[in-house]
Amino acid sequence: MATRQSLPEIQTKLFIDGQWVEGTMDKKAVINPATGEELVQVSQGGKEETNKAIEAAKKAFPVWSGMELKERVAILHKVADLIEENADRLALIMTLEQGKPLKEAKGEIKTDVENMHWNAEEARRVYGETIPAPNNHKFEVKKQPIGVVGAITPWNFPSNMIIRKISPAISAGCTVVLKPAGNTPLSAIAIFELFEKAGLPKGVANLVMGSASEIGEAFAESSDVRKLTFTGSTEVGQLLYEQSGQTLKKISLELGGHAPFIVFKDAPIQQTIDALVAMKFRNNGQACTAPNRIFVEEPIKKEFTEKLVKAVGEVTVGNGQDDVTVGPLINEEARETIDAQITDAKEKGAEVLIGGGRLDEGEYKDGFFYQPTVIDGVTTEMDIFYEETFGPVIPLIFFNDEDQAIQLANDSHFGLASYVFTKDLRLAEKVSTELEYGLVGVNNTGVSQSETPFGGVKYSGLGRENGKHGIEEFQEVKFVHTTYFTEN
Ligand code: NAP
Repeated sequence: MATRQSLPEIQTKLFIDGQWVEGTMDKKAVINPATGEELVQVSQGGKEETNKAIEAAKKAFPVWSGMELKERVAILHKVADLIEENADRLALIMTLEQGKPLKEAKGEIKTDVENMHWNAEEARRVYGETIPAPNNHKFEVKKQPIGVVGAITPWNFPSNMIIRKISPAISAGCTVVLKPAGNTPLSAIAIFELFEKAGLPKGVANLVMGSASEIGEAFAESSDVRKLTFTGSTEVGQLLYEQSGQTLKKISLELGGHAPFIVFKDAPIQQTIDALVAMKFRNNGQACTAPNRIFVEEPIKKEFTEKLVKAVGEVTVGNGQDDVTVGPLINEEARETIDAQITDAKEKGAEVLIGGGRLDEGEYKDGFFYQPTVIDGVTTEMDIFYEETFGPVIPLIFFNDEDQAIQLANDSHFGLASYVFTKDLRLAEKVSTELEYGLVGVNNTGVSQSETPFGGVKYSGLGRENGKHGIEEFQEVKFVHTTYFTEN
């Protein structure tokens, strides 16, 4: 066992208008999901604090959006450099409050650095357009920052979900109020400490932790918040969409997913299994892009299943500070949801091939651990076929032909990530065209990069993050028609 480190010294307050301030509500404990121990108590606020933060962001908007572009870009690169310099500290904080293995946490911080640099560079490429116009007229399209942004993020990628929103928003010239997940506020605080250190002017990025419903309502009700960007569950996304109707703000929703992973009989089996296991057990299955329904063509059923069970048997579980493949789940509720899905599947005829239960003895006693699991014989009668699985469970479903595979894969109200493995280019083209998903990995699972658009369709949400499409979410398009007087 590696030497385990404790929580480094860190702020515990809200950050509003360049000041660390106490909230008016009772403090909330942050729990280490690997040990059940309390790490620290953090300040909490509600409507009052959120409205102050919105006011600060409103005041800072003309300053930030009007700043000389090169200066703004330099601050953004400085933030990226500071994140890189502090990577070990940030990763440790993330592992302590979220549970994922340190190696994964470091990978997430590396992605933060890339996102920050990429968006800083993109700020210099916010090109407008000129459109051919009649003589003595000019048609011009300008892209302008939308204004104050409200951002709400989940706990599963507690650092990168924040950077993915704040970096394009402030690169575009917007100012932001962030509400991070209640379970993982420390990763947000640690990033805000670096914003301060980088010299981000006061009010440009504000941090409010506390009552989710009050903060969400304050964002929705405020006419000053011109854009709301949310990542989290479909249920909360729907609520925020409805609430925001009253102030007609632009909204992006990155919501749940239930990714199909389709394996055709010509796919190289071991390579496909390696890709599946790596993607499925990333963050212990707690990812919106996790492969959740594995469709395998009948002729390779036996070989695929045997090799998969062997690979899953090699997945190690433990405290993220040790050398393990996966850590704990986020909390007890997450274990209960998975237990319920497995019990329902078993009652309806599914067979557990490996795993299938909690780990709660010995070193696992005080954490929220779960066995890496494979279940066979999953059908459309079972909850697990339709409900998002946020944990280490691989459900197997077998199919006979390509049309059946596509039909089963599209039989979901989610539409975020999907994967298909085959050597047949015609088949890959057909399947990737017909899948009703915002993201398709053909013979790979790399559906998220700084430079490529990320987002879903159907109940997986609206809008895109990353790439040039990501920054456009924080811009308004203005058309300017100029006529030149031709007579004095
Ligand atoms: P969640 O319960 O919807 O929470 C997400 C955020 O919303 C948290 O900050 C939460 O605050 C806040 N929230 C809860 N109720 C709210 C309300 N009434 N008004 C305003 N905000 C509210 O989701 P989660 O369980 O944390 O995250 C997992 C979900 O996120 C999964 O469905 C996953 O697929 C999705 N996700 C999607 C993407 C994507 O890019 N599409 C990426 C990652 C995760 P508290 O924590 O304080 O309750």
